Amino acid sequence: MSSTEFVIPAPPPISLPVLGETKRFPVRRVFCVGRNYEEHAKEMGYTGREPPFFFMKPADTLVPIEAGRQGTMNYPSLTQNLHHEIELVVAVGLGGKNMSAAQAPAHIYGYAVGLDMTRRDLQNDMKKQGRPWEIGKSFEQSAPMGPVLPAAQWDQWAQSAGQKDAAIWLKVNGETRQTSHISQLIWNVGEILEHLSAAWELAPGDLIFTGTPAGVAAVKSGDVLLGGVDGLPELNLKIV
Ligand code: MN
Repeated sequence: MSSTEFVIPAPPPISLPVLGETKRFPVRRVFCVGRNYEEHAKEMGYTGREPPFFFMKPADTLVPIEAGRQGTMNYPSLTQNLHHEIELVVAVGLGGKNMSAAQAPAHIYGYAVGLDMTRRDLQNDMKKQGRPWEIGKSFEQSAPMGPVLPAAQWDQWAQSAGQKDAAIWLKVNGETRQTSHISQLIWNVGEILEHLSAAWELAPGDLIFTGTPAGVAAVKSGDVLLGGVDGLPELNLKIV
């Protein structure tokens, strides 16, 4: 048996814990939806009525946080305005292209809670200049995430709790900063997969950050961020 040898150290595989499993979810690409809650679009200076658009973070920006644990993120360089964006994250289990919204559920392995951390000052500079905004969005440790819950288990939870919607929220040092409901997504999960899979061929391991509610604001070193979506494992992160 031969294994591939590399000329420099090979990057470690990126993966997330899966609740109730010893096996992990391997991460391929990280897609993000921009401005997908109307109130957040308005706070960013837009109308909230535009087609979905996407950007990406490299997979190695993830900070995977084990179930029941607190993760840490280093306060990043160059920024004076590091913002939190709490988001529902979709984990793709079955790839495909040109999916319809109705076909999307069959392609979803599970869901998780994620933070799309943003160097807002750098992002805004790039936007003003009409330049790509990776420096504001796609830096190291910019995507802390909790464990993945398999989709069937989230559905089961919703049924047993009699819940048709899920709250999404973020607290910083115990104080609520962001709160909304998944039903308030401008483009719902099925519609996001429909749009995304028209532009890219989705593959197992892809993650999709679905957008953030209003209330984005700055954090500083020492802050503890606790975020959740009803029925999913909470995300607990300390900025150090
Ligand atoms: Mn976001």
